[in-house]
Amino acid sequence: MARHITLLGAGLTGPLLATYLARRGYTVDLYERRPDMRLRDVGGGRSINLALSTRGIHALAGAGIDHAVLADAIAMPGRMIHDLEGTQTLQPYGVEGQAINSISRSGLNILLLDAAEREPGVTVHFSARASHVDLERRTVTVVNDETGDERTFGVDLLIAADGANSSLRAAMVGMPGFEHRVEWLEHAYKELEIPPGENGAFLMEPHALHIWPRHDFMMIALPNPNATFTCTLFAPYAGENGFDTIAGDADVHAYFERHFSDALPLMPTLIEDWNHNPTSQLGTVFCGPWNVGDWALLIGDAAHAIVPFYGQGMNCCFEDCSVLDGLLAEHGDDWQTVIDRFYELRKPNSDAIARLAVANFLEMRSKVVDPLFQRKRKIEAALHAMFPDRWIPLYTMVTFTTIGYADALRRSREQDELLDRVGLENVEQAIAAGRDAARALLGIASEQAAA
Ligand SMILES: Cc1cc2nc3c(=O)[nH]c(=O)nc-3n(C[C@H](O)[C@H](O)[C@H](O)COP(=O)(O)OP(=O)(O)OC[C@H]3O[C@@H](n4cnc5c(N)ncnc54)[C@H](O)[C@@H]3O)c2cc1C
Repeated sequence: MARHITLLGAGLTGPLLATYLARRGYTVDLYERRPDMRLRDVGGGRSINLALSTRGIHALAGAGIDHAVLADAIAMPGRMIHDLEGTQTLQPYGVEGQAINSISRSGLNILLLDAAEREPGVTVHFSARASHVDLERRTVTVVNDETGDERTFGVDLLIAADGANSSLRAAMVGMPGFEHRVEWLEHAYKELEIPPGENGAFLMEPHALHIWPRHDFMMIALPNPNATFTCTLFAPYAGENGFDTIAGDADVHAYFERHFSDALPLMPTLIEDWNHNPTSQLGTVFCGPWNVGDWALLIGDAAHAIVPFYGQGMNCCFEDCSVLDGLLAEHGDDWQTVIDRFYELRKPNSDAIARLAVANFLEMRSKVVDPLFQRKRKIEAALHAMFPDRWIPLYTMVTFTTIGYADALRRSREQDELLDRVGLENVEQAIAAGRDAARALLGIASEQAAA
């Protein structure tokens, strides 16, 4: 039985998984393409952040680092909508004041690396890119891209957490029975920045995720502890309002003046950022199965990269780690069972969040300003307050619970169908009449009956 694990990728998933595995007594060699980010700046100095929510926190807690991560987080209890005139409206995320958390990607990565290296069984090898995985020989070739040094070694058990362009997944393409599809969006993204004000203060409300919804495109901004905001423009590659309509500095300025006039004065480095930062593509990876026999496994983005619009990619990857850990607790070293169960449990959930993430793009860039959407949100919030366990808005299930993504999707469809069938006006009247009226109209069993 394999007690030594070769793990590829020390991004977000790899070090968390290494920590979990070491605590179960495995020795782990973790290979990371980039140099050690604690010694060298590997991110081009950009301050990129992520939204961390309940699932991610839950998995970090399993490795004992949730408090350290949250210590530097900025709580965002709602989204701040900026209209074309610059008027701002706050839409709370949770019904009970819950918040998502803005955290620094590099800060988190460092905490995860430190935690993994604290475990006696973990060795991290930096500047070590897996350039080739040989599925027949069960070997991995690792190369140092700076020196050209290369070595090939055999593996007992290989887990690839090497992200959306996984080297193991590339080797699996063409394997009999392996299905693989990448669905690209017609939209790309570019990161920009809002610096602090003269007195070092935030120039916008820090406790919010800012959105400039413009229907077929949008900009968002998340706060950083150094009082900057990382802005991300999501726009089509081509066509009206697309990246291809912007040919030079004057066009950039005009685009922002037209669409984001309240943000423009806060972005003194706009042109510099625009020219320096790449325009990157967005896609969803669907593949399966995620394993080669009982000895090689894809995990995290390597298995199921998704688009970022639900703020769940990393949260889902972290949940992968805690689920795998739970299976190891249950099945010990029986890796075939662990791997099979892992796929059975996670594939429907990763497919569900992949779909939800694409759908949430439309919600963020357009629906948030649609009166019907806002009316439904209000109704759902009222129903959740009345029946906290029986009626949970989709966003709440995905972001503030650990209900499986597939279950969340199913439950929300049932809720939506019920609202459509009964009619929003009737539901509003029943809510106004009180709990019993709403219960009777929607056929929600009383707690005693449900018990
Ligand atoms: C614009 C954007 C915004 C996002 N915002 C959020 C958010 O708010 N909330 C959220 O939950 N998720 C978010 N995500 C998703 C999140 O970034 C990913 O889900 C997460 O980073 C996946 O972690 P990972 O470790 O599996 O992959 P990665 O983070 O990509 O890490 C892979 C690691 O493997 C290394 N590597 C790659 N190839 C090799 C190789 N051949 N050999 C060795 N090492 C290799 C890489 O250098 C990297 O360190 C966002 C994604 C994008 C693109």
